[in-house]
Amino acid sequence: RHKEKWAATAPRIPSTRLALHHFDTSYSLHLGALWPSVRAGLLCEQKYGALLNNFAAADHVPEELELLNATDFISEALQKVQQWQRGTAVGDAATGCQEGSGEGRPGVQAEMVAQAEMSPPLCTSISSKIKCYTFPRGDITRFRPARPDGLGLLDYYLMDAASLLPVLALHVQPDDFVLDLCAAPGGKTLALLQTGFCGHLAANDVSISRTKRLHQILHSYVPREVRDTVSVTSYDGRDWDQVKGGTFHKVLVDVPCTTDRHSAMEEDNNIFHRRRTKERQMLPMLQLQLLMAGILAARPGGAVVYSTCSLSPLQNECVVERALDVARAQFNITLHPEDLSHFRTLFQDTFRLGELVLPHLTANFGPMYFCKLRRV
Ligand code: SAM
Repeated sequence: RHKEKWAATAPRIPSTRLALHHFDTSYSLHLGALWPSVRAGLLCEQKYGALLNNFAAADHVPEELELLNATDFISEALQKVQQWQRGTAVGDAATGCQEGSGEGRPGVQAEMVAQAEMSPPLCTSISSKIKCYTFPRGDITRFRPARPDGLGLLDYYLMDAASLLPVLALHVQPDDFVLDLCAAPGGKTLALLQTGFCGHLAANDVSISRTKRLHQILHSYVPREVRDTVSVTSYDGRDWDQVKGGTFHKVLVDVPCTTDRHSAMEEDNNIFHRRRTKERQMLPMLQLQLLMAGILAARPGGAVVYSTCSLSPLQNECVVERALDVARAQFNITLHPEDLSHFRTLFQDTFRLGELVLPHLTANFGPMYFCKLRRV
């Protein structure tokens, strides 16, 4: 016990403990019975995915990873859709059933119909060239570090596989102009480039030091001719509208947040440090301003994906709801939230997923929240 009379400062409570206390209070209410298992996931080693670098000469890597029992979770999901479609087609031909008629094996048929209905957008949304290998549920094997090819380009990028979901949700189409408003260190920028579809990619981040890291990643993974299609800037994203408003087909707004996994585990750069209380409390406002800037940067008909790696409804749904109101009231902009529920069906083998990827000991990805808005 310290002598209060003599102690110059009160004993410091670790930021990780403050974070966990905060999470226990708010997330046990928000997630209910799910919270204990999510908490255990947050406190254990996270799982990585290996995003294959299509720009590297690394044809041998898929075989190498498959020998270790890793699979590309995106192409697996695509195969599943194709099987459902074939199943539905065979069922239709054999029974002459109309979709949804419920004849034959009602449960199975209803499931097939639901899946078939969501299949076309699904197929196109994941038919991009993004490939990401993960180990099966419960397998905690680590990937070897990335290796350079003959030209020095690294063969894969290790990242939380859940971070790819906002990129997949964005559904980049050939020649799209894409803005990544909060881009550094650049995992999602790299994934956007792997689609091979970006006509132009603007990657912005206010932090100069983190933008340097983004440059490093681009140099390590992307050949010069492709790098030349990327413009890297360090504006405050909130001012983006003054730079280039209303021009992008697709905008990714991957905002700064309480980075729950980091806050629960690492003292370094922890936003729950007492000195950063004000900054933490202001996060939802900053997130709203960044999302509004992203919305204004999108052209009519364009799409915006908002994402965080926090479980907090105040940083997730509440920010999106507020942005819809502000867009309508102040800018006369209507936005339609897109239904991403098909992602749940599609990727359920890899993630514990709702609108939110919840960490779990057997599939320790996330947390990751993402929401897609289409500008009318
Ligand atoms: N998208 C990145 C990736 O996949 O590697 C991670 C982005 S991180 C979650 C959030 C980023 O927002 C940080 O790099 C931070 O520097 C940046 N940021 C914070 N405030 C910003 C602002 N006002 N304008 C632009 N970027 C900002």
